[in-house]
Amino acid sequence: MIVWNPWHGCKKISPGCEHCYMYRQDEKIGKDSTKVVQTKNYYLPLKRNRNKVYSLTSLDNPIYVCMTSDFFIEEADRWRDEIWKVIRYRSDLKFKIITKRIHRMKECLPQDWWGGYRNVTIVCTCENQKTADERLPILLSTPMIHREIIHEPMLEAINIEPYLREGLIEAVTCGGESGEDARPCNYDWILRTREQCIKNNVSFEFHQTGAHFIKDGRHYEIERYLQSLQAKKANINFQRKTEKKPDPYEDILIELARSLYRSSFILTPKALDYCEKKGMKEIRREAFEAVRECLGKACYPNDGYQTPRNWHPIYTAMFATATDNRENLSKWHHIPGGRRLTENEINYIVGLLLSWITRQINGDPIRHDFFTPPLDIT
Ligand code: SF4
Repeated sequence: MIVWNPWHGCKKISPGCEHCYMYRQDEKIGKDSTKVVQTKNYYLPLKRNRNKVYSLTSLDNPIYVCMTSDFFIEEADRWRDEIWKVIRYRSDLKFKIITKRIHRMKECLPQDWWGGYRNVTIVCTCENQKTADERLPILLSTPMIHREIIHEPMLEAINIEPYLREGLIEAVTCGGESGEDARPCNYDWILRTREQCIKNNVSFEFHQTGAHFIKDGRHYEIERYLQSLQAKKANINFQRKTEKKPDPYEDILIELARSLYRSSFILTPKALDYCEKKGMKEIRREAFEAVRECLGKACYPNDGYQTPRNWHPIYTAMFATATDNRENLSKWHHIPGGRRLTENEINYIVGLLLSWITRQINGDPIRHDFFTPPLDIT
């Protein structure tokens, strides 16, 4: 599990915070947990190793954000805009933001959030019925693309079924509390939540038992290192069924991802904004236009230079997919030069461009993380 803590420190807000792990850890070293401070990992997603490659790659997904604080805590208001930029920039990483302060989310969103960033999941924690009833309506009504719920520590049986019915919640995780003073967690509560998830086709995970676990009326004390293992052993996780259409361009995209040069292209925030504003219908129209203009003719005396090199999503996609000139079309896609492109060939190229662009927008690109340009934080 990869954790990114851009800031550290928090204030207790509800019963789930009572035995906060971060407080317990800080107490051991005499640190004041209520003081919210930037950490040395503030820019972690932008850090590169000796080979100038990002330390975090899409293989590390998901990245858990703010596990020793709360992303929406007031004290971090002055830093959050910058961190949103980092999150937006690393569109290849998937960030999970876990929060008990969902009520602050709307006032903390960046200007370009619109319906939500594709690479961000907001995970709302609610430990009992009261916090579920307070927080989940806000989770559902705030614009975002990915939503999840965590009951951890789960302090009682919680009915969340009314909130699952709309199909907006993707997953629910349950778990007990760890530590010496841990409150007990009852297996029946976990099973009831599981039932609600299965009924509404929502993924479910039993994450850990906690230190005091009750099953069939018996009380078990479970060592820290066994808590996740025991939960896994219960084998009650559930994966929701989603319909995924096969992508006919996947094979060629995998081939292209093996090229250091081709895989260095990504859609910049400006290009992603452009796609969002224009919509895919317009992007598709522009793609046809660009392909006809730059590739459609029988002969290009300047072949290799006819496609503009700029931030535009179509041109970026053309370089990324080796459809930027006729020589590359022949080399990578076996479309011979010296004649006009057929309509079928134009359709194929446009389909490939849109597949690449859609994957970029969804934060699900097929690529190796060899290189991406540096972010200019302003
Ligand atoms: S919100 Fe999370 S980090 Fe903050 S005190 Fe509560 S449990 Fe701890």
